[in-house]
Amino acid sequence: MKIVLLGPPGAGKGTQASILSEEMGVPRVSSGDLFRDHQGRGTELGRLAKTYMERGTLVPDEVTIRMVMEWVDAHERAFLLDGFPRTRGQAEALDEAMADKSGIDVALSIRVDREELVRRLTGRLICRGCQATYHRTSSPPSVEGRCGECGGELYQRQDDSPEAVVKRLEVYFEETEPLIGYYRQTGILREVDGEGPIDEIKAAIAAALN
Ligand code: AMP
Repeated sequence: MKIVLLGPPGAGKGTQASILSEEMGVPRVSSGDLFRDHQGRGTELGRLAKTYMERGTLVPDEVTIRMVMEWVDAHERAFLLDGFPRTRGQAEALDEAMADKSGIDVALSIRVDREELVRRLTGRLICRGCQATYHRTSSPPSVEGRCGECGGELYQRQDDSPEAVVKRLEVYFEETEPLIGYYRQTGILREVDGEGPIDEIKAAIAAALN
């Protein structure tokens, strides 16, 4: 199965993608993680992406498409894309790449209220070691600043600052939300409510995929 996950930053795409990927045995990739990995390795692409990511704006299509397509080419039978496509150009490039294969099966859109997104993102803490996520108030770590899973250090992503969050949401509603209409037209859109306990959302996604 080839699935793309759509939804604003903070909708829980990463959490649900990792659950789905494990349960279905399908490889997944997050374009944001690919960029962060490049930054960590100090590549030219990483340096280029950094300037956009810090501002909360999108990395240009040309480089983003090339980077994600490299991954897609290596996993063309089944995959889960988290955070890609985010623009009409990216969605068209993906369709083109899939043209002689069976195409994308499902575009899964996770909906969450704007106010809740701001609350989630600005309070989010991430483990440097295993990428587990916490929230300052709704799911704080038992030891401050330390991951309960691996003991790693918790940090706040630079683009989870209040200013960057406002910008990221603005960019989402302008550039990415229209893709919901794009996939509705092709008949592969499924929508789920992303508010509530993780297990409930997981069940709603399973129902939507069946
Ligand atoms: P994320 O981890 O998905 O929140 O992405 C973090 C940042 O990486 C975004 O704010 C963008 O700057 C960049 N990014 C991730 N995915 C894409 C994409 N598909 N197109 C353009 N920029 C992206």
